[in-house]
Amino acid sequence: MAAHIIDGKKISSEIKDELKEKVRILKEEKGIEVTLAVILVGEDPASQVYVRNKKRACEYIGIRSLSYELPETTTEEELLKLIDELNNRKDVDGILVQMPVPDHIDDKKVIDAISPLKDVDGFHPMSVGALCIGERGFVSCTPAGVIQLLKRSNIEISGKECVIVGRSNIVGKPMSLLMLRENATVTVTHSRTKDLQAVCKRADIVIAAIGKPKMITADYVKEGAVVIDVGINRDAETGKLCGDADYDGLIDIVSAITPVPGGVGPMTIAMLMNNCYEAALMHNDL
Ligand code: NDP
Repeated sequence: MAAHIIDGKKISSEIKDELKEKVRILKEEKGIEVTLAVILVGEDPASQVYVRNKKRACEYIGIRSLSYELPETTTEEELLKLIDELNNRKDVDGILVQMPVPDHIDDKKVIDAISPLKDVDGFHPMSVGALCIGERGFVSCTPAGVIQLLKRSNIEISGKECVIVGRSNIVGKPMSLLMLRENATVTVTHSRTKDLQAVCKRADIVIAAIGKPKMITADYVKEGAVVIDVGINRDAETGKLCGDADYDGLIDIVSAITPVPGGVGPMTIAMLMNNCYEAALMHNDL
């Protein structure tokens, strides 16, 4: 049977359209305007593109975005002061500092400074802790997007063997907690895992978040498995974007797979927008 290609563009558009309606209702019926403050320090071109895309998504959905584009020379103290001001503003629901920040600023201090009530990226230790023990809190956007891709593609998670390749704080670890919450049997693997191929071959669902172009080949995947490819890499030969999974080599084996681009990527911003909406609900006791 032909593999189902999970269309992240379509699913993220559906989520954004649903949010647009919810944000409109919140504004019309309760007079609440969802607001996200976006902070960018420096002029890294990739970060500028990410920030622009986030602001565009806000505009589309009807979320007010406040933009703080600060020079590279901004000190840690100045940035922390701005975060503190935004933490205390009643009209700001979410605060996002685009990572990476310049080297002279400690990113951990920045993450810790954002109020857990406004931590729409879900990076604060309290957000991660809440996820760990199943309490309400913000979930890191990319793993949250993966869950939506699976659910909206009617892929059963409960009781399935899930192998996650990668254990980073922003993808692999929160991904494992979310899959556990959905009742999967979860194995988290990394660069020191022994016989990774055999471990991955056990999986009904393989989630690759490695940062190694096309590493997950047919040797790692059992027939009929689902492959979710979080990786965004540049193929050294073609110069084109590619994932951590060898899409062409897997397409005849898997039951479902996400393409790169157009799979997990578009979901991240949609889930960020969802976190902003959730923040506004929380701040208004809804
Ligand atoms: P990190 O570099 O932080 O983590 C990579 C993980 O992969 C580490 O845990 C590392 O293990 C593991 N790893 C590296 N090499 C191997 C190997 N040979 N075998 C097994 N495991 C290995 O990356 P991120 O989690 O931040 O990102 C992963 C990928 O996802 C990247 O391509 C990134 O661009 C992409 N990404 C995509 C997003 C999206 O919106 N779609 C969002 C965020 C990331 P160890 O811990 O032992 O070093």
